[in-house]
Order: sequence, then C-alpha cells, then structure tokens
Amino acid sequence: MKRRDFLKVAAAGGLMVAANAGPALARDAKARITGAVGLLYDSTVCVGCKACVSACKQYNETPPSFSSSDELWDNPLDNDSKTYNSIKLYKDGTAEVKDREKDGHAYIKRQCMHCVDPACASACPVSALKKDEKTGIVTYNKDACIGCRYCQLACPFNIPKFEWEKAFPEIRKCELCSHRLKKGEIPACAEFCPTGACVFGPVEELLAEAKKRLTYKPGDSEMYPVERVNGRQMTERMVVPYIPRVYGEKEGGGTQVLYLAGVPFDKLGLPDLEEKPSAQQSETIQHTLYKGMIAPIVFLGGLVYIVHKNTKDE
Ligand code: SF4
Ligand code: SF4
Ligand code: SF4
Repeated sequence: MKRRDFLKVAAAGGLMVAANAGPALARDAKARITGAVGLLYDSTVCVGCKACVSACKQYNETPPSFSSSDELWDNPLDNDSKTYNSIKLYKDGTAEVKDREKDGHAYIKRQCMHCVDPACASACPVSALKKDEKTGIVTYNKDACIGCRYCQLACPFNIPKFEWEKAFPEIRKCELCSHRLKKGEIPACAEFCPTGACVFGPVEELLAEAKKRLTYKPGDSEMYPVERVNGRQMTERMVVPYIPRVYGEKEGGGTQVLYLAGVPFDKLGLPDLEEKPSAQQSETIQHTLYKGMIAPIVFLGGLVYIVHKNTKDE
C-alpha cells in the first residue's frame, strides 16, 4: 500500500468515525444512597481553632504543610497533597462581627464533599475513584490510578490533590476517615471538634438536623449535638441568623457533607452549582474524548498495516 492510499483509507476511517460520533447520551442523575454517612459543618458554631485540621493530619498520618519560609509551623492555607481538611477565613471591612457578611468574619471547613454523583469518579477512566455502595464514601485506589488527573479537572470543589513532589505520585483527598469508621470510630475532624461545628452521622439525620436549625429563632438558646448527630453529647448555644439554605442538599446533585452558615456560601468560597450533577457533564467530556480516540486508533491500524505489508514485500 502506498502512502497516498493509506492516507485515503485513514481519512475515510476518520470520516466514518466522525459521522458516527454523535453527542454522548445524557444519563439520569444518581440518587442519595439510603444509609449514606457524612458530616454537617455549621460555620456559625466554628471558632476557627483548627483542632479538626490537626486531628485530620494525625489520624491520616499526613506530614506538615508549610506556608511560611521558616517552616516552623504546620500551617496549611488551603487543602494540598498533605492536607485533606483546611479551615479558611472570610473577612470583610472591619471584620468585627462573626457570621456577618458586612464588616464581619466567618470560618469555612474544606474537605471532599463525598458527592452523591461524584464528578471525580465519573471522569476517572480506570475507576480509581469509586463511590462505596453502602456508605456513599468516595474512595481512592492508588494501584488503579494512572496519574491522568482527570479527577482534578472534573471536581467542582477543587479537592483531589496530586503529589507533584513525589517520584510516584498519587491523588490525595479525604476519604471520610474510612479506616476509623471500620473500627467503629467516627471521622477525626468530628471527634476532635470541641464546639460541635462538625458532626458526623447518616446524611438523612444530618439534613434533618440542619433543617431544624434553620427554624430556630436568632437570639434563642438551643441544644446542638457534638461529635455525632443524635448522639449523647449536646451543648447549649445562642442561635445566630442563618442563610436559609442547606448547602449540599441539592448543589451539584447533592453532597454528603452539608453546610450551614451565616454568610452567603459563595462568599465562603463554595461554588454556586446548579442542581444537575457535575458528573453528567464530566461523563460527556470523557465519552467525547474516548470517541475522539477512535480516529487515532484507525490511523495507528493503517500504520501497522503498511509496516506489515512493507516487511512482507522486502
Ligand atoms: S468533592 Fe470532588 S473529589 Fe470529592 S467526591 Fe465530589 S467530585 Fe469527588
Ligand atoms: S473525615 Fe477524616 S480525612 Fe476527612 S476531613 Fe475529616 S478527619 Fe480529615
Ligand atoms: S475543630 Fe471545630 S471549631 Fe475548631 S476549627 Fe475545626 S470545625 Fe471549627
């Protein structure tokens, strides 16, 4: 076969593929798993002590992350490959009043949201990220990972982090302390939060607790759970005005980590997502990429044929 003939065959193959490559089929959004577990983080209860950040590092055995040149303190400013959980500060103007948007300040905890329909898992071509069928926790399998970092691109919360500093890098993110749950313990960030700003439990119960708090009257005293929702430990505190919405109930198809706050969520750095899961979009991108890969395969097939033919002709 001559080069000109091969190019004709490859071009015809490419046209055939292009003709067949219609848009990727949209699929239905995935529903919450009954019995799925997660966290409720209430920004109005958080005092920014970062006990959760230390506990997360201790129980996940991650090294310190420095943000100052003297490298004396483990003080991550954001999530990174050594930090699965960070506490960030919002402030405006004089920053005087906590949980107020204008001239106020507030804290926000950032970790994997364990999305109901996770875009990271949909984008991963080798299923290294998977959603557990019982708990809904999004876990990572380092042995399956090929390091393509599609998960990083797909995640709307900018959560998966890549170990650029290592010779054999892995993706790092919160796995809801699955190793502790297996031992009957709760996530370290919930266990060591002294105020009850972060509580663990079944998502249905966390959502009910969050909705109950939205009915509280600002200025009243109410009982708030510590460590676990509907657990034994409670603390009494004064209610501050809430933004009337549970972030994570519907955003991006829903998440298993839910938020309450006194300051608008976008000001706290949480993306303003539609109810449609981001995973539907990432799957479309992935399927389009795979379809796009068929043309190079046809081209490669042609190349192999020429080499084979030429070798035979010699
Ligand atoms: S927050 Fe990002 S990394 Fe976590 S489950 Fe959702 S898409 Fe995946
Ligand atoms: S659940 Fe565990 S890994 Fe995730 S943020 Fe909390 S302590 Fe860290
Ligand atoms: S331990 Fe609790 S109160 Fe302290 S920063 Fe973390 S979530 Fe906030």
